[in-house]
Amino acid sequence: MLAMGTTHAQSDPIPAEVAAFRSKFRRDHIGPRYHGWLHLGFTAGLCLLVITACWAWLQDIRPLEWLTIPVTCLYANLVEYFGHRGPMHHPVRGLGLIYERHARQHHRFFRDDLMAFDCSRDFKAVLFPPVLIVFYLLAFAMPAGLLLAWLFSDNVALLFVITAVAYFLNYELLHFAYHTAPESWVARLPLMPRLRLLHTLHHRPSLMQRYNFNITYPVGDVLFGTLYRQPTGCEGSRQTDPRSAR
Ligand SMILES: [Zn+2]
Ligand SMILES: [Zn+2]
Repeated sequence: MLAMGTTHAQSDPIPAEVAAFRSKFRRDHIGPRYHGWLHLGFTAGLCLLVITACWAWLQDIRPLEWLTIPVTCLYANLVEYFGHRGPMHHPVRGLGLIYERHARQHHRFFRDDLMAFDCSRDFKAVLFPPVLIVFYLLAFAMPAGLLLAWLFSDNVALLFVITAVAYFLNYELLHFAYHTAPESWVARLPLMPRLRLLHTLHHRPSLMQRYNFNITYPVGDVLFGTLYRQPTGCEGSRQTDPRSAR
């Protein structure tokens, strides 16, 4: 059971289709030695270690070099957007595992009518596998940092890695928070209900291929016209997407 109230607390019965998939996923993909909190701790610990180590190497940052932070945030937001809109929801040659993990597993484990974990072992259905995090750091963050050091300066390279890793950690923690129970303290943090609602709508089977591809902040969705908000009151009569019905 989860300490922060992430247990599924909805009074409605679990949809049979989702219950069956959850049982199968747990049986096939979550080993007896898996610990969800350890997984979350590894992700946060490794990211904070990389950020701290890079921060310690920074020296005499010039004003223009600080621009690396907003530019990297925008870049990361668009990578998140296109990665999710593309290979995570459409099979792409060589990236089939990403599609399988996201569209065929994550979206079947969590639907908009059942978004919360049942227990900490279910974290596996949300968090990136540790081996993939290490792979991304070595295969993407490090070469990109070396290239930026060669093109610009060591400070730009270090600020890029710090921002990219911090952005990734923010992504993981926000996505984790969206899948806690609505009454948990995490789900009630400032801004969380709005961001969580966008992701919950993305988990509606009829919307998931078309709307709300940003997991963090909906910059890409606003720029490319794929932001979908739950219509309310008379506003709803104008904004309701007729295709959104189940
Ligand atoms: Zn999700
Ligand atoms: Zn998705």
